[in-house]
Amino acid sequence: MAEGSHRKPHAIMICLPYQGHINPFINLALKLASKRFTITFVHLEFIHHKLSKAHNSNTSEVDFFREARESGLDIRYTTMSDGFPLDFDRDVHMWEYWETMLHDFPVRVDEFVGKIIQSDQILEPFLVADTSYAWCAPIAKKYNLVSVSFWTEPALVFSLIYHSEVLRKNGHLPFKDNMEEEINYVPGVQSINTRDIMPYLSEAEWGSIVQRALSLAFEEVKKADFILHNTVHELEYDTLLALNKYQPNYAIGPINFSATNTISKSLWLESDCTHWLDSKSPGSVLYVSFGSLVQTSKQVIEEIAYGLLLSEVKFIWVVRAGIVSYGDTNVLPDGFEDEIKDKGLILPWCNQIAVLSNPAIGGFLTHCGWNSTIESMWCGVPMICYPITYDQPTNRKLIVDDWKIGISLCDGKSVDRTKVAEKIKSFMAGTTSKSLKHEATKVKKTLQNALEVDGSSGRSFDQFVNDLKEKLH
Ligand code: UDP
Repeated sequence: MAEGSHRKPHAIMICLPYQGHINPFINLALKLASKRFTITFVHLEFIHHKLSKAHNSNTSEVDFFREARESGLDIRYTTMSDGFPLDFDRDVHMWEYWETMLHDFPVRVDEFVGKIIQSDQILEPFLVADTSYAWCAPIAKKYNLVSVSFWTEPALVFSLIYHSEVLRKNGHLPFKDNMEEEINYVPGVQSINTRDIMPYLSEAEWGSIVQRALSLAFEEVKKADFILHNTVHELEYDTLLALNKYQPNYAIGPINFSATNTISKSLWLESDCTHWLDSKSPGSVLYVSFGSLVQTSKQVIEEIAYGLLLSEVKFIWVVRAGIVSYGDTNVLPDGFEDEIKDKGLILPWCNQIAVLSNPAIGGFLTHCGWNSTIESMWCGVPMICYPITYDQPTNRKLIVDDWKIGISLCDGKSVDRTKVAEKIKSFMAGTTSKSLKHEATKVKKTLQNALEVDGSSGRSFDQFVNDLKEKLH
């Protein structure tokens, strides 16, 4: 297409309804729009309502991309139904919800995409979807569209699922619970112990909806025209190189920082703790959060609570509604909030990037969600890892064993307040913390360099844009 032509390739982007997917997906939309693509960005209706509530807006009037459009980007915003009533509690009934979604949602998307591309407004449409959605390639094929798959976790996790057949042939899929074995034959993965592989590939979770959905999705991703990764080449070089032998893969991360934007993404109201943080000395505060989705037990919460108190380290702790079970709002030990006084702050939700960027933050006790991991790396903040499920144990391996920018809170999942206190204390003040900080600063620089115009992710994104345009014409 000639520069200056009015025809612009048009991305249809349907977002997965989870915070850890919404954030990178919105940033990808902005990044594509900045390269002169037109975007139709689609949220599920219930997500639109959640966002509106979190931002105190009138649902019917909200257009989350208005500001982006005003700044010259061509982004249209719309919503679609997932087929469930708005008041259906998708958190409480998560598994039931996804069982239905797995079968019914692709039919809805098919219909939706069909209608969009028939409208005269759309020229040169292509489909961009989260890799976890299995419908992208088949629907793209049906309508003769180019398909782009976006993976929001590390390439290592992608590679392990992608190479399922190799793992299966070697007798490691599903891998046996409680048996630790070293695997060194997955292309581009030097070595990984089964204890560090995502639990949904284990015997215990085999057949779960997560395992089935991902296994279906990874059959389909093999048919995608392009695969984008929210990671950087320098950190996962061998893994990406091996994947590139099969299909075009592009490492374009860290995506959450590549566009200056004020688009509201939080599904919950953000509490502002800037004032409190600004009164604390540099590097003195530990930030604690287990992300937007996972749950843990009341006992773990209690041990961590008293561990934090015993450590005498100042902290900010995001205790999200539903962290133990939905509807249970009393998860902290009785009287805990009175005991902490000015030592800590308990918040229901915050602007995590703003918190991590504050000079007062010296460490992050994290569940190792990939966005949290990469946000912490971007801010040069070392981590204490307490992975719970999904990709988190695998991300822990990268953080602790490979990149040496974090330590594990404990072996396995059982936590003890005295040990938690010791870990936190030495992490925030000891000599290990110096080497962690040193490595974290190096990784921060790597991420910053990657995003420069001539950095690896900058170049990779430009390459993707060129290859995509070529394919579209
Ligand atoms: N997050 C936030 N405020 C909070 C806690 C989390 O904005 O109080 C954001 C965080 O910045 C990240 C996302 O929520 O972008 C969580 O994604 P992640 O992949 O770390 O974990 P998940 O929620 O998917 O388990």
